[in-house]
Amino acid sequence: MKRDYYEVLGVSRNSSMNEIKSAYRKLALKYHPDKNPNDKKIEEKFKEINEAYDVLSDEQKKQRYDTFGHNSTVNNENVYTQYQYEGNFSNVGDIFGDIFGDIFGGKHNKKNNNATYKHGEDLKYDINISYLEAMKGTKVSISILAKSTCLSCNGTGDKNGMPPKQCPKCAGTGQIRYSQGFFSINQECSSCNGSGTVISDPCYECKNKGVVNKKKTILVKIPAGVDDGTSLKVSGAGNAGYNCSPPGDLYVIIHMKPIHGFKRNGNDLYTEVSISFPQAAMGIAYNVPVLEGYVKIKVPPATQSGTTLRIREQGFPKLGRRNKGDLYVKINVVVPKRMNDAQKKALFEYAKSMGEIPKEAKYQSDNFFRRIFR
Ligand SMILES: [Zn+2]
Ligand SMILES: [Zn+2]
Repeated sequence: MKRDYYEVLGVSRNSSMNEIKSAYRKLALKYHPDKNPNDKKIEEKFKEINEAYDVLSDEQKKQRYDTFGHNSTVNNENVYTQYQYEGNFSNVGDIFGDIFGDIFGGKHNKKNNNATYKHGEDLKYDINISYLEAMKGTKVSISILAKSTCLSCNGTGDKNGMPPKQCPKCAGTGQIRYSQGFFSINQECSSCNGSGTVISDPCYECKNKGVVNKKKTILVKIPAGVDDGTSLKVSGAGNAGYNCSPPGDLYVIIHMKPIHGFKRNGNDLYTEVSISFPQAAMGIAYNVPVLEGYVKIKVPPATQSGTTLRIREQGFPKLGRRNKGDLYVKINVVVPKRMNDAQKKALFEYAKSMGEIPKEAKYQSDNFFRRIFR
């Protein structure tokens, strides 16, 4: 025989909605199965409280109950099944969701014993690497907070590691058929959220999801040749899947740290060197500093300032290929800032030989030079 709903909640027939709510809150907290695991009596009691609250918190149902008592539910049996407690704490979620979201699963996780079967989410991780690391390749150890398989239940979501069983309410179909008069509608089963399976003995460690948040460290191999914006996929290194579903992937996004004196364009490396006028005029073998060590280049005679020389295969490796980009060296010819008297005289003679100064002119001093060219 069913107990009177008012009696169940311990309120009088003329209680206000607020009084009913607050009575329910107190009882729901006290008899919540999460606080009293494996106690069948408490579970029954909690079910009773929920059912009573379902009716008394709804104006229409309350009115019908006030008039017809428990008989009011007879005609709507099919509809009522959805309010029967089957590890379904929907009321608790509504009332306590904001405050006790984590304890009771919160508003967005009203159903508490269904298996989720969702692939783990993909994760993204941004990483800064140097030009040299991009050129040679490297290994980077990264730490991320991710969902990992719950070790308490081996990812099953069940305390004893048992696989989820068929949902008894919908017989595994995930759908419930409600009939009302001439109408019948199919609705997602509220017990299993449409998944068709329920977990017999939810794992409290992971709230039966099979995954817990954990910091994990992953060693990521960065291949030679990656560039700014390269996205490296590390298969299966994303969030663990819910209730033993497949994991997501991890995407490592490469960002290049700028380095003074060098630029990169695709697989090519760009730099500049400064040489003297005689070197530019007569040519020179020159050691160009690069990311690591030097590259010997030949500056041909009569190289003009601003000339760019291309040295093949001295740039970045092409990702996944054997060949490399090129090195481009821009040559700047510099003018000496200071010269001694002998040097100036030599230059004077040179200018004379080029016909820039009259043959009969004689080098005397700085002033002389200025007078000549004025
Ligand atoms: Zn179901
Ligand atoms: Zn678990």
